[in-house]
Amino acid sequence: VIEIAGLRKSFGAHVVLKDISLKIERGQVVAMIGPSGSGKSTLLRCINLLTVPDGGRIAVGDQAIQFSGRDTALPSERKLAKFRASTGMVFQHFNLFPHMTALQNVMEGPVTVLKTPKAQAAAEARALLQKVGLLERADYYPDKLSGGQKQRVAIARALAMKPGVMLFDEATSALDPELVGEVLTVIKGLAKEGMTMILVTHEIGFAREVADQVIFMRDGVVAECGPPGIVIDNPQQESTRAFLGRFK
Ligand code: ATP
Ligand code: MG
Repeated sequence: VIEIAGLRKSFGAHVVLKDISLKIERGQVVAMIGPSGSGKSTLLRCINLLTVPDGGRIAVGDQAIQFSGRDTALPSERKLAKFRASTGMVFQHFNLFPHMTALQNVMEGPVTVLKTPKAQAAAEARALLQKVGLLERADYYPDKLSGGQKQRVAIARALAMKPGVMLFDEATSALDPELVGEVLTVIKGLAKEGMTMILVTHEIGFAREVADQVIFMRDGVVAECGPPGIVIDNPQQESTRAFLGRFK
């Protein structure tokens, strides 16, 4: 469902992604781990086009975009928007709209982007809030929700756009330890339903439990890639072992 080939991204002279290629099948859960600054967030942001790659090809579902240094003409805004909507992104810091209730946050995308009628969007949003266990908080504003609740609203909001793939960038890193579990439970539920997901995470135990494939990023390349039993429990490279040793 996702195919990336030759993806490159630099910020000025700093090469952050060097020729990344990977393939993710429908229904797979991929955990992306690796040291700070290795390019994990940049890779997710490229898949969602929050960051525009310098080169390479990204395909999600039946849509593909080719980026190339020489031919700088970008696809039309409409094509980019449609491509962007094929993935849903969940951030470390929730990024909810503070002036909207939980329900309004979840309805906003469908109403403004998908032009879903309001009554239908509200009904779907309630169903999603129920799914993340927050129906009774539908009319709360974000500042009255705990971090774990805010993150579950953010997951419902991303799901409301009916993306084929969900991207999570350290979705639990900003949470108090006692709130991490409720968010991981929601993510686990999505995995069980067969949602295709890429999770950037420092929760190594969780990665081992839910991931079909683990990608270890180092210095802008995929250093290791494979099932958790290999990449996490029996990494091939000494530096991967050293990194993972910190979590034991
Ligand atoms: P962390 O685990 O700390 O979140 P990461 O693997 O997600 O790290 P990235 O955020 O992808 O790392 O950053 C990779 C490198 O790219 C870093 O050196 C960072 O400083 C640089 N970088 C990221 N975004 C930008 C930007 N908008 N402008 C300039 N440099 C950037
Ligand atoms: Mg990051």
